[in-house]
Amino acid sequence: MTKLSNRILNLPTSQTLAMAAKARALKLQGKDIISLSLGQPDFNTPDFIKEAAIHAINDNYNSYTPVNGYLELREAICTKFKRDNNLDYLENQIVVSTGAKQSLANVAMVLLNPGDEAILPAPYWVSYDAIVKLAEGVSVEIPTSIENDFKITPQQLEAAITPKTKLLFFNSPNNPSGSVYSEEEYRALAAVLKKHPNIYVISDEIYEHIIFEGKTFSFACIKEMYDRTITVNGVSKAFAMTGWRIGYIGAPEWIAKACTKMQGQITSGANCIAQRATITALQAPVSKIEYMVKEFHKRRDLVLQLLNEIKGLKINVPEGAFYVFPDVSYFFGKTIQGVKINTATDVASLLLEKANVATVTGDAFGAPNCLRLSYATSETQLKEAIGRIKSALAS
Ligand code: PMP
Ligand code: GLU
Repeated sequence: MTKLSNRILNLPTSQTLAMAAKARALKLQGKDIISLSLGQPDFNTPDFIKEAAIHAINDNYNSYTPVNGYLELREAICTKFKRDNNLDYLENQIVVSTGAKQSLANVAMVLLNPGDEAILPAPYWVSYDAIVKLAEGVSVEIPTSIENDFKITPQQLEAAITPKTKLLFFNSPNNPSGSVYSEEEYRALAAVLKKHPNIYVISDEIYEHIIFEGKTFSFACIKEMYDRTITVNGVSKAFAMTGWRIGYIGAPEWIAKACTKMQGQITSGANCIAQRATITALQAPVSKIEYMVKEFHKRRDLVLQLLNEIKGLKINVPEGAFYVFPDVSYFFGKTIQGVKINTATDVASLLLEKANVATVTGDAFGAPNCLRLSYATSETQLKEAIGRIKSALAS
């Protein structure tokens, strides 16, 4: 009999990380795998940020930091929120954590009681459901489809709300669909939430800078939502700093305090060197990272053009982030290279085994007809990978 707790036994493994690990293992065995599985920029962290970290080491930043992050960093985050999002936060409303993933986990842990419901518009990022489970909450998914650009409507939101609803996880630009909600769409959803004052919104804005047209909006910019919104962000995506592990929230002070108490018992706060480097990153003008966004834009266009040549794929046009999320249900029921395909997971396995291309099944994101491909890799790799996918699916 297993000695592990029910908590860990009931926790799903992160399928993005699992697929990345599988691809890595196959590569080590000498297989020529192209991984479009993990969502992480393939750029180096910009030099000006690396230099700030080296200075921090030489300046002997080596002690525990305040649990909620250095004051200078929290002030830089307040300035960033004002500059980029027109949001007014004070430093005591900010908590810096070990990645936005921990920020999300903190919030779920401090707001959910066992049995409380958290609404997840699907497709949603893999870890939302797992984090809700860890906090002993219950996920309530709202399905969407490619026909409505993977966005929920106010009517769907209203229908998903019950007396037990405590949280809404909202993510725009979205991982995995790349969809971006307009200000009008935010306001229409907020009009529903206004009737339900006990619901809090986690607004995950980690891809805010990776957007190809227009600008993103923030839930907390809607006056009536400010006191009920936790704005989540981080430096992983915009600054190519995934391994540095810095995320943060802006939130009502009582929620920020509770998150600080939570991480005071779990991590004692985020890494000191990464925090110093993040001050420099956030103080830089957004123009310093434009070259990466331009490159993602070019790659998105390339990937769409190439994927659209593959018979059977239905694809939306992602407006942000760095993923495409084709509907692959056309292949269900067919036999490809002797393999019977019934699910998107079967398609992902086929592509890994027969085409040496790693992707992530839509099942992981609550969208079982789709497949996620990350285009945060070079054009050469993308062309080669999609060429392989095309031949595998054509045979
Ligand atoms: N939210 C979304 C939507 C993501 O895709 C990710 C993946 N990096 C995160 C949060 C967590 O980011 P990190 O922990 O690296 O800050
Ligand atoms: N957020 C990235 C992804 O979706 C990184 C992996 C993870 O943290 O799950 O691929």
